[in-house]
Amino acid sequence: MGNDLFGGLGGLVKGLSGLMPQEDPGVKLFKAQAEYGELEKKEEQQLAQIGRMAIEKYGIGEWGEAGEKLCLTRRNMEEAKKQLNHAENENQEADEKKRQSEECRTCRECGMLNPEGVKFCQECGTKLGAREKRFCPECGAEVDVNVRFCGECGHRMED
Ligand SMILES: [Zn+2]
Ligand SMILES: [Zn+2]
Repeated sequence: MGNDLFGGLGGLVKGLSGLMPQEDPGVKLFKAQAEYGELEKKEEQQLAQIGRMAIEKYGIGEWGEAGEKLCLTRRNMEEAKKQLNHAENENQEADEKKRQSEECRTCRECGMLNPEGVKFCQECGTKLGAREKRFCPECGAEVDVNVRFCGECGHRMED
């Protein structure tokens, strides 16, 4: 329809400025490739679906080498799944460590997030540390993080 209406105009524009973008052979090729690729993908998915139904109906042993390969792939998948779970756990632990580290470095008085390795808040001087309690190195008693002497044995607590 568009061609009928604008054919004359199109021809005129063509004459003035070369090919219209949609008539560019490179663009045409790209479009044709994309369209074919889409259909190929769709076919793959449909074949896979039929394959699943066939295995469900007739069992995996019916398909010779292809079935054996599938079994092997599935075994490999189990192993890969374990690796994936392991990696996920490790990643989660790393995140948790990072979170805890940030929690330790965040001042409970003023909320400032201090850099790593800092013992006292750089903003207000409050002693940092997520643990509110620590243990006396002398007698092992649990003492408050801010006290200077152990209440149990009188040991002088280091900062
Ligand atoms: Zn502070
Ligand atoms: Zn003590």
